[in-house]
Amino acid sequence: MDTKPEFQRVLIKLSGEALMGNQGFGITPEMINYVAGEVAKVFHLGLEISIVVGGGNIFRGVAGSSAGMDRTSADNMGMLATVINSLALCDALEKHDIPTRVQSAIRMDRVAEPFIRRRAIRHLEKGRVVIFAAGTGNPYFTTDTAAVLRANEVRAQIIFKATQVDGVYDKDPQVHDDAVMFNKISYMQVIEKQLHVMDMTAISLAMEHDLPLQVLNLHKADNIYKAATGGEIGTRIYN
Ligand code: UDP
Repeated sequence: MDTKPEFQRVLIKLSGEALMGNQGFGITPEMINYVAGEVAKVFHLGLEISIVVGGGNIFRGVAGSSAGMDRTSADNMGMLATVINSLALCDALEKHDIPTRVQSAIRMDRVAEPFIRRRAIRHLEKGRVVIFAAGTGNPYFTTDTAAVLRANEVRAQIIFKATQVDGVYDKDPQVHDDAVMFNKISYMQVIEKQLHVMDMTAISLAMEHDLPLQVLNLHKADNIYKAATGGEIGTRIYN
């Protein structure tokens, strides 16, 4: 395996579901420890790493609003869920001796630093992992959009979207046996074929700012490491 990193600064997007293991809700110690271990492998390559973690394992705004809640209140709950996940991941990374800071888009100074772009970059330069919590800080957005936004802000060269599936398929692989996975695909094709990679806000922001995205399976050990060292893992999306 090639051990030379292809990138210097990357952002890893983890869905909240990645932390829940097979219990269907919340955070399992085994899973968060596994995720921290996968991040540790990339960290030891010398890469500057920022992370955005979702909140879907705890609460999604859409679920709240379809149950009758005000959408903004529900999204605020979703953003707070991402803070819980971020604090858990910070703890797990520190157990792997990785210096980590959490920066929140919603101020809560007792539990996390506020998001300050230059400070985040400074942390990265000093070899600290930075976890961006509370999404964009605004309702009606997703943590995928937060990932693209923050990646642009800190000038990450690529986003690794670590998911439950191997990559991007032409149709749902869990429904269709003949689904074919793309190794590479352009953002324009993703839009034309209406592939469910990220929401449109996130896709258009990444496309407009020429930010590549690599979708890979988190549950296969070493996948993020392989992607970081230039391995052909999952699906690369580019302009
Ligand atoms: N959210 C939000 N604004 C943001 C990011 C997230 O309101 O900028 C809320 C939204 O309700 C979302 C929830 O936080 O459903 C959790 O984020 P997401 O669904 O993106 O998490 P994931 O699917 O990655 O676990």
